[in-house]
Amino acid sequence: MNKNIYELLGLVVALSFILALKGLSAPKTARRGNLIGAAGATLATVVVFFAPLGKDSMGMAKTHHNTLLILVAVAVGVLVGVPAARKIQMTQMPQLVALFNGVGGGAAALVATAEYLNLGADASTAEVVATVFTVIVGCTSFSGSVVTFLKLQELMTTRPVVFPGGRFVIAATLAGVLGTGGWTIASGGNTPLLIMGGLALLFGVLFVLPVGGADVPIVISLLNAFTGLTVAASGYVLQSTLLIVAGTLVGASGTILTRKMAEAMGRSLFGTLFGAFTAKPQEATGAAETRSVKSGSPDDVAILLNYAQRVVVVPGFGLAVAQAQHTVRELADLLSAKGIDVAYGIHPVAGRMPGHMNVLLAEANVPYEQLVEMDEVNPTFPQTDVVLVVGANDVVNPAAKTTPGCPIYGMPILDVSEAGNVIFLKRSMRPGFAGIENELLYDAKTTLLFGDAKDSLTKVVNALKAL
Ligand code: NDP
Repeated sequence: MNKNIYELLGLVVALSFILALKGLSAPKTARRGNLIGAAGATLATVVVFFAPLGKDSMGMAKTHHNTLLILVAVAVGVLVGVPAARKIQMTQMPQLVALFNGVGGGAAALVATAEYLNLGADASTAEVVATVFTVIVGCTSFSGSVVTFLKLQELMTTRPVVFPGGRFVIAATLAGVLGTGGWTIASGGNTPLLIMGGLALLFGVLFVLPVGGADVPIVISLLNAFTGLTVAASGYVLQSTLLIVAGTLVGASGTILTRKMAEAMGRSLFGTLFGAFTAKPQEATGAAETRSVKSGSPDDVAILLNYAQRVVVVPGFGLAVAQAQHTVRELADLLSAKGIDVAYGIHPVAGRMPGHMNVLLAEANVPYEQLVEMDEVNPTFPQTDVVLVVGANDVVNPAAKTTPGCPIYGMPILDVSEAGNVIFLKRSMRPGFAGIENELLYDAKTTLLFGDAKDSLTKVVNALKAL
């Protein structure tokens, strides 16, 4: 392919990535943004097969090697990736993102290593430095992402994993990674590069283990930004402008998202990553609990709602699990028809991904103006008669304000305890994602309606219709 055409197509791809990011910044345009990004990525994957490779020392045009192997690898990727992405529940999306992101980081590290081995003694110092950077960050991103996946999938504990001297082990591993990195740059050898890659894999695991479940999404976003930087650096090694542009966009947008998520959770990034080492140990919750709670029936809840003037629905992860978005809307419509003022209080990290509740409620065509963000809804709770907490827990847990050292301490919450009555729809007394007790469940103004949120809401709707 002519070099100019190739570069022009590269520009089209870069533009489509920028337009995709712009589209993804608002719910209305997100679907279109996603499609534009996917089209750009497909174009990028195709044009690279036609990239002009220049001429060799004999003046002959260089040709692509291993095309068949590459096509087989693409086919395997498609066969694994497409069904996985189709089958995944929306509640498991962060795990999928973590896994895909980790694979991206690992792939960039492998590609840079292959190119490094290929260049051998011909590699310039700048190329060796870029390779070292790519391998360190790519390996860290890969193993760190695998641990975030295991945590989110609850295949391992979601609580912070700390051990005596953990901070020093992490610092020593990091020193080892940097030391072997320097050794690789100084010697240009292969052995130090391999040792460095192994240590970086270990560092990725150690880096994520102390992060508590509630903070894992911030780390996924950070690792995603890391992967972007890795891809940009491997683009330098491979002399690919496209990889540099795409990687820089992922790095920049991932960094902004990480900052925004940390802000929404009232955290500094440092506190998120290393807070567990300074936190006071938390008692395991639930086991020794003997206090009683007030549970109610769907009829009790319907009566409370029927005589309210203002009701705020607080949706959380359990709403997504139960797929109760349509039923909650039916209930809200019924209350509105009775002249009751209804709003939805939206916490920025309710659910398992940013914007999760907005997407879920939009699917049920809940009018956008009924969704009220945390800062706006909080001052209205004292004038609210009933708050209906549907499958939310951490985002209304007062421990975030009252228990220094607990995993969610400092996270702004929805102040539902300010309302007249609080009704929790949940299946059991199990804690939320952060694994900590919620004192509000034992409060005198709280009623628990046990059961799957969709079942419970359906029963409340029927009871309300019968009144
Ligand atoms: P939580 O995970 O704290 O609580 C969910 C509640 O839903 C639990 O109390 C659970 O109780 C209940 N539940 C689960 N399934 C059902 C069901 N079928 N029917 C009824 N109830 C159900 O969720 P929140 O939304 O309050 O908080 C989100 C948490 O996730 C925060 O800690 C946040 O930091 C973290 N997080 C946020 C992400 C984001 O970007 N939004 C990403 C990843 C994590 P029970 O089991 O008893 O039913």
